[in-house]
Amino acid sequence: MHPALEFEDVSFSYHTINGEVPAINHISFTVKKGEFISIVGPSGCGKSTLMSLICGLITPESGHISIDGMPLGSQTSKIGYMLQKDYLFEWRTVYDNVKLGLEIHRLDPKESNIDTMLENYALKDFTDAKPSELSGGMRQRAALIRTLALEPEILLLDEPFSALDYQTRLEVGGDIANIIKHEHKTAILVTHDISEAISLSERVLVFSARPATIKASIDITFPDECKTSMDKRNSAKFQNYFKLIWEELTNETK
Ligand code: ADP
Repeated sequence: MHPALEFEDVSFSYHTINGEVPAINHISFTVKKGEFISIVGPSGCGKSTLMSLICGLITPESGHISIDGMPLGSQTSKIGYMLQKDYLFEWRTVYDNVKLGLEIHRLDPKESNIDTMLENYALKDFTDAKPSELSGGMRQRAALIRTLALEPEILLLDEPFSALDYQTRLEVGGDIANIIKHEHKTAILVTHDISEAISLSERVLVFSARPATIKASIDITFPDECKTSMDKRNSAKFQNYFKLIWEELTNETK
């Protein structure tokens, strides 16, 4: 089986009037189908550039990116996004927001799985509500269902929880990660929050300062009894992972 995503020796620089700004430097990594990985790195290191490369907004200067074994751009495979802001339209009901992507693509919501998802993810009773009536967590779930309705193969999560208050953020992060697992999606989360990366993902890639290189790829595993992200945060392994990632991030000479 091909990996969901593969970067092979990818480099990218911005060209400005003040010269070249190398952003990504010979990066190689793969993401397996159904895997949830996080990317952490210093601000300005090239994380957004990496996301832009994956969604084809910019193309590598050298190296190759493939999705499901095919060069990026050569297939109809879809990338879904979750951003910091949920971009729900306040004048539309939850249902009308959730079906928006389908509407734009002229697809019939009745033939989609949105009703099942609204039911599974505790929004069925709110289909006629306006987004302003929902909690922060419910809004993010609605935004995720809207994205999943288009059946993306890879989900890019760009700091999707950073606008939420701390407590909501903990709950919503766990909820969203569970939904993504349940729907068997491949996900790439960019976050500044080391704890979030450890508690939600199966692997953390640590990027160096610009131009980004991969300093470490750390597999995250917890004992079976650690089911929720809070269980993980309270386990002894969590502190070890945190220390390991912190050391990688702060040791720039390595
Ligand atoms: P991050 O998301 O990790 O904060 P970015 O990928 O946004 O980092 O940016 C990486 C580097 O590239 C930064 O130094 C940034 O200033 C530079 N950069 C980003 N976009 C542009 C652009 N359009 N033109 C020139 N330089 C850019």
